[in-house]
Amino acid sequence: MKKWIIPVLVSIAVFLTACSEDTSEQEKEDPEKAAPKETEVSEKEEPDLPASAGDRKVSEDGSMIEVEEPERIDVIVNKQRKLPDGYEPPDLTEPDVPFSFEEFHPKKQMREEAARALEALFEAAEEDGLDLVAASGYRSYERQKTIYENSVAENGEEYANRYSAKPGTSEHQTGLAMDVTSAEMAFRLEQSFIETDEGSWLEENAHRFGFVIRYPEGKTDITGYAYEPWHLRYIGEKLAAEVHEQEETLEEFFGLYPTN
Ligand SMILES: [Zn+2]
Repeated sequence: MKKWIIPVLVSIAVFLTACSEDTSEQEKEDPEKAAPKETEVSEKEEPDLPASAGDRKVSEDGSMIEVEEPERIDVIVNKQRKLPDGYEPPDLTEPDVPFSFEEFHPKKQMREEAARALEALFEAAEEDGLDLVAASGYRSYERQKTIYENSVAENGEEYANRYSAKPGTSEHQTGLAMDVTSAEMAFRLEQSFIETDEGSWLEENAHRFGFVIRYPEGKTDITGYAYEPWHLRYIGEKLAAEVHEQEETLEEFFGLYPTN
């Protein structure tokens, strides 16, 4: 066989593989052609990142997955990908940044690497004359459980599912998220934050410090959450820069497409 034939054959094989993936993706989105749920799940390809081979289905219909490596900085937690019950991050610490309240509270904490990055972000914002205030970081499994159960009791399950995360599915439990606000917002977490200097600065600059705006506008179908310009997720500088550049959600970036 001539030497040039092998690379050509390899290229053709790669091309065919890419095309067949595209086709299956289109079929999945076409409701008329949609395969039954079990088939869809079993055919879904597991991406290299950030899913792990040990991620396992924990609900009967396969719609809920438990992540195997919750300590990964690039762990993806959402309404379909939960942390192991009772998971606690290993290295929680309180970042040295202004908070919207004085007293100690576990929600002031983040994981070490994220806390240091948040400090750098706050320092840079201050140098630009901005006044960021941290509001809520780490949230334990138990605390999320209480919040969720109270919401179910008060408003019913459908409402609770829409507005609060089930225990194990909140990104705040990873210790890699922080809700950020400002005095101008009277420390509230509202979408109008994006209209303030602090909110727009975050959107432009958070990635330089390894953070992404985790729940962008118009991506509710993908993330499962309404726009939250205040919710920062630490994922490391390299990944954050790539995600910011591509203007994608983490689900899109990693090829995970959960639906509600
Ligand atoms: Zn949040």
